[in-house]
Amino acid sequence: MATTYSGLYLEIRRELKYAGSIASDLAARELVCAASDKTKEALFRDGGLYVSADIEARARELLRRHLDGEPVAYIIGEWEFYGLTLAVSPSVLIPRPDTETLVDRAVDYLRECGPCRVLDLCTGCGCVGLAVAAQIPEAKVVLGDISDEALKLCSRNIWSNSFSGRVVPVQADALRKPDRRIGVFQCIVCNPPYIASGDIDGLDASVRDYEPRLALDGGPDGLDFYRSIAGKWRNALYPRGRIFFEVGAGQSVAVGRILRDNGFGEIESCEDRNGVRRVVTAIRYPDI
Ligand code: GLN
Repeated sequence: MATTYSGLYLEIRRELKYAGSIASDLAARELVCAASDKTKEALFRDGGLYVSADIEARARELLRRHLDGEPVAYIIGEWEFYGLTLAVSPSVLIPRPDTETLVDRAVDYLRECGPCRVLDLCTGCGCVGLAVAAQIPEAKVVLGDISDEALKLCSRNIWSNSFSGRVVPVQADALRKPDRRIGVFQCIVCNPPYIASGDIDGLDASVRDYEPRLALDGGPDGLDFYRSIAGKWRNALYPRGRIFFEVGAGQSVAVGRILRDNGFGEIESCEDRNGVRRVVTAIRYPDI
């Protein structure tokens, strides 16, 4: 029996709820939109129209993939972060609400800076750097990542969000010293891989089985990237330039210590919306 768009949406939502999905309304809406190539607005406008058999079959196939564990963001190929719609793929992490705290802190600082260059290192789909660019019109932003696939997504996201004049993608390996040509920055923002290698198997299956290990694995204690960046990327910051790191739960003290040992000071940390110490920031002290 033919169903309408709103009937299909409600049915998919019911199945998701039954399977224990916490954001069943959001997921159902995204899956029906993706299956029918409709925007959210069009979906609700067309709620009373009948759905073709093809679209219904496509929506059911997307629902099956999600019920098998595939994150909605990878199924639909985009996700929202800090008010921006960004292309994502299984070669980058899905932007998380926790990471908005990193943007909040960097933006508070950059509002006082005037024209500046900002580096988003380990940028993935570019979410942090693009959110900074959106909030700080005077900032020029470099999105750095080692992965070609991530850099392709960055290019798409720069273009689709109209930042072509101010934001550029650059290949950069956070575990090695930067190429001098990348220049010097007033601010580095960075959400590096920070899960200890041995903890990856214990992550939620939707993360462990679908998100890229390259973007999660922070080495034996999860801190490899902090050590490398604080040491090898120090000179990519101007003296008194500021770095903002996202950190995993329980890592803020260790990351503060790594920064101090590498000639950073004014070290502070702050909590995300769930009360986890999520951001550590410091300035690069001038060399003596
Ligand atoms: N916050 C992510 C998670 O816990 C990990 C992100 C990262 O390693 N940068 O799944």
